[in-house]
Amino acid sequence: MMRRTFVKGRLQLLKDGSSDLSRREFVPIHVDGQVTSGECKHCSAVISAKKGHVTSGLRNHLIRCKARAATVEALNQMNATLMTPDGVSHLWKWDPEVARKALVRMVVLHELPLSIVEYEGFRKFVFSLNPNFHMISRRTLKNDIIKAFDEHKKDLKELLGASKSRISLTMDMWTSNQTIGYMVITAHFINDCWKLEKRIIKFNALETPHT
Ligand SMILES: [Zn+2]
Repeated sequence: MMRRTFVKGRLQLLKDGSSDLSRREFVPIHVDGQVTSGECKHCSAVISAKKGHVTSGLRNHLIRCKARAATVEALNQMNATLMTPDGVSHLWKWDPEVARKALVRMVVLHELPLSIVEYEGFRKFVFSLNPNFHMISRRTLKNDIIKAFDEHKKDLKELLGASKSRISLTMDMWTSNQTIGYMVITAHFINDCWKLEKRIIKFNALETPHT
């Protein structure tokens, strides 16, 4: 995590008047036991570090220092090469909870059958990605979906409750691929950034056919 050290130097004054930042980037020069100046570790320039000017003088130098800029650039390059071609950091950690949520999302989003978790091919594919993933049962998947539905419903209620704009309701009729009729209520509202938002708030199957 050297990059953080270099790029985001926090200017925190220590008890002796020198700063956290200056210690990392400057070699202190003492006169009579007092730090009077600092030598830049990047370009060897000697910068005055008199009391009261400790942070501003050194900080201004760091902004201008060309040798330091080159170091930062090199470190950024190094960090970039630590990423895979897909931009996945090597610091990435596998989280089974995240994986399980992604599975639920995929099934709902693509209207996949719940039995997908029992497909031999799918199980093999997941195992090839991560043998540690404990494949859930169809029943657990169903429970996960209902849980996700309840969570989203709660979030939506909070969102609409906090909305300062008026809410417009639109009723529409949909027909699924299985020719089941649905009545859908959509809420339209303006968010705090003046952007139009829309959310489905009711999705009811209708027994009677519609055209
Ligand atoms: Zn310098």
